Amino acid sequence: MSNKKTPVRVYLNENELPKQWYNIQADMPNPIKPYLNPMTKELVQPQDLAPLFPMALIEQEMSTERYIDIPEEVLDKYKSFRYSPLVRAYGLEKAIGTTARIYYKYEGTNPSGSHKLNTAVPQAYYNKKEGIKRISTETGAGQWGTALSIACAMYGLECVVYMVRVSYDQKPYRKAVMQTYGATVYASPSKETNVGRSILEKDPNSLGSLGIAISEAVEDAVMREDTHYALGSVLNHVILHQTIIGLESLTQFEKMGDYPDMVIGCNGGGSNFSGCAFPFIKHKISGEKDTRFIAVEPAACPKLTKGKFTYDFGDTGKMAPITHMYTLGHDFIPAGIHAGGLRYHGDSALLSQLYHDGYVEAQAVHQTDVFKAAVTFAKAESILPAPESAHAIAVAISEANKCTEKGEDKAIFFNLSGHGHFDLTAYEAYNSGKLEDFEYTDAMLKQGLATVPEI
Ligand SMILES: *Cc1c(COP(=O)(O)O)cnc(C)c1O
Repeated sequence: MSNKKTPVRVYLNENELPKQWYNIQADMPNPIKPYLNPMTKELVQPQDLAPLFPMALIEQEMSTERYIDIPEEVLDKYKSFRYSPLVRAYGLEKAIGTTARIYYKYEGTNPSGSHKLNTAVPQAYYNKKEGIKRISTETGAGQWGTALSIACAMYGLECVVYMVRVSYDQKPYRKAVMQTYGATVYASPSKETNVGRSILEKDPNSLGSLGIAISEAVEDAVMREDTHYALGSVLNHVILHQTIIGLESLTQFEKMGDYPDMVIGCNGGGSNFSGCAFPFIKHKISGEKDTRFIAVEPAACPKLTKGKFTYDFGDTGKMAPITHMYTLGHDFIPAGIHAGGLRYHGDSALLSQLYHDGYVEAQAVHQTDVFKAAVTFAKAESILPAPESAHAIAVAISEANKCTEKGEDKAIFFNLSGHGHFDLTAYEAYNSGKLEDFEYTDAMLKQGLATVPEI
């Protein structure tokens, strides 16, 4: 084990919470390419987004200000639910016998059980302020829908959730949670929208995908004056809100008396990884630190490691802005892996650019290895991780083992994005040896990229 002793865990008290979010667009060596309108393929103007988002979020989306104030009302909510510790994983270090120091930031302590409440609250707040009554959204695994339904309940907004069919079936209790907070939940593809109906016509047994559910939620919002749309990841303003994770972690590491050599996070649409990593990447861009950053994705949905860096639609129905990002193609429907939150075909434009420019590495892992790591972690640290988060654990363990082989004493930090209390079907499958791995083939990539638009 590492000889360097640090506290077991560090919390921040309410007046130590960051008062501003960090916007990496101010510091990126190469800026991202602008969004394009899905109909005209012209540059997206702020007013094009107005049917979907409040102006305050559209401004954040396009802003290049380095720091953006967190509104007082949002800060008050953060104070009420953000008691997210930075933990030294002494138990895990011992269990795997490593020479490395392992740390994790735990985002499962808030009522939604994942990091997603960090952006759901400001999104609901800005919509309420603009006079919106109802918010539509999609959810993959259910964490985002849960977070948004909690945030909508806080601000007295109606919430409509299109939930990817495979998760709707795998996680019935997630639906009950959202309904309890007052949300209306539809299995997607649904009969509620044109997009949903046309997909069901072709394939009545469609498992659904995030791409389809996004199209349904966007269509719902566009059709109604009183409704806006909210996205749980991918967009710049979502990642901006999630930098609360990394900003807190920076202060917590100071209190620990340490600094990470590696920052690891799982990657679905990029928000938990980026939110945790970007405040540290700032120090790498400026040359102050030489930390490694590793985004971890499922081998069944390998957008960074196998996908193409190009303009693509953000959704299957081609309603969301065209984004320059790593993508497997907007029609790609990933295998029904249990990390539902990591089944998005594309990725954050910001993270894609930083990966392309070499600031971030990526690794893809199979779900049986992920659950093996999850169980090791659960036994050693007592927390039952979300399958998504366990992707980060799997790579943290394998990097720690590499340190041990070389006798290195490095600090490995990963974001534990949520707990797995609603993922017990998956754990049951793993425990009974029924969990399968899925191969992503070159034929799938070829087919997926065939429909990427020519720009
Ligand atoms: C949604 C989710 C993810 C993946 O989404 P990102 O935008 O990549 O963060 C990861 N972990 C948990 C627990 C989630 O709920």
